[in-house]
Amino acid sequence: MTRTAGEVQWITVLGATGSIGRSTLEVVALHPERYRVFALTGHRQVDLLARQCVRFTPLKVVVADLAAVTQLRDALAGLGYDQEIEISCDRQALERAVADPRVDTVMAAIVGAAGLEPTLAAARAGKKILLANKEALVMAGEVFGAACSAGKASVLPIDSEHNAVFQCLPGGSVTPGVRRILLTASGGPFLRLTRAQMAEVTPEQACAHPNWSMGRKISVDSATMMNKGLELIEAHYLFGVSASALEVLVHPQSIVHSLVEYDDGSVLAQLGNPDMRTPIAHALAYPQRIASGVESLSLARIGTLSFEDPDLERFPCLGLALAALTAGGRAPCVLNAANEIAVAEFLSGRIGFAAIDAVNADVLARLGQGKAGANVGAVLELDAEARALAVQMVRERRG
Ligand code: NDP
Repeated sequence: MTRTAGEVQWITVLGATGSIGRSTLEVVALHPERYRVFALTGHRQVDLLARQCVRFTPLKVVVADLAAVTQLRDALAGLGYDQEIEISCDRQALERAVADPRVDTVMAAIVGAAGLEPTLAAARAGKKILLANKEALVMAGEVFGAACSAGKASVLPIDSEHNAVFQCLPGGSVTPGVRRILLTASGGPFLRLTRAQMAEVTPEQACAHPNWSMGRKISVDSATMMNKGLELIEAHYLFGVSASALEVLVHPQSIVHSLVEYDDGSVLAQLGNPDMRTPIAHALAYPQRIASGVESLSLARIGTLSFEDPDLERFPCLGLALAALTAGGRAPCVLNAANEIAVAEFLSGRIGFAAIDAVNADVLARLGQGKAGANVGAVLELDAEARALAVQMVRERRG
């Protein structure tokens, strides 16, 4: 349903309890005359979800399982909440929360492959999708593109780099005359560490990003630079550009969020403080502009912006993602699945940081050849196969 300017937009926030979900609700809270929350979804953080319900009075909430449903009901009762609310946890609940005809906009901010099916449901239902969940696009880029075309859905990128590129392209799409897209990368917390030093780092150190406050999985991906690799694949699908027109530029201050170079030598960049509320507000209001709550950028205070090439030897995950992008077919899906397992194993202390790229490389080499899954069933089957192999690789490494 397309609303006219001035009408309230109904929004479903997938992953409302996460870093992006919370930032989205902060922006929504600044504009009660523009946005109303249709549904909030979380997984395990029930107390936070209950407080969000009190603040935003959604019509529906989705949680992980029946135990979480009961916990949420109790938490809401404890807060004295008496509004009518549907709480569910069944398999189709996420899809209903996005596909309802009353919903205009879906923030897709579940982390990892778990976000694929609800994001696809939003695509099929023709929603305005604010896409944070890059893993869904990496694992099923073609299936997702076809679902968006069939459903006439629109996609606005939330990743700060892709949002920046979108802002530097007239109309948000690549036209003749675009020479290169340069995705900037902070380099993460281990930018200056040797490989030997990286072998010793802890999950807490990996999650302490110098510039951005993010969920644990993407924080580790930033530390390995797999995040930038996944973003290259995401950019390929979002903007329809080949690997040869995509580059990574390390920029430790995270002020220039990305750049587009044109044939005439012009380079357009988008700058801003490293705060996800900026791309979220941009995408929510597009093509208008609204306040995000982010303070003005002071370049004089920052003083120096520096840039350097990435080091693929110290950050092999970036090279693996480049190889997967170039190979295409099954490779991105396989790499994404292996990486989700490897990162989870690192976060729970079962493997070291340096083993993440080793597990990814092994799984990619064993399963990465062949055609991409033609439908969501085939994609999920491949995802499961790659996860199982990654688990086995982890076991073998641990002896
Ligand atoms: P978080 O880990 O902070 O949040 C993840 C969200 O997903 C939470 O709401 C969590 O619920 C929910 N969730 C986890 N597992 C499941 C599951 N199996 N089923 C349903 N919901 C689930 O992640 P971020 O907000 O950092 O990242 C979200 C996505 O956005 C990722 O794809 C990331 O790559 C992308 N992104 C994030 C950026 C950032 O700055 N954080 C920047 C750019 C992109 P609960 O917490 O209740 O268990």
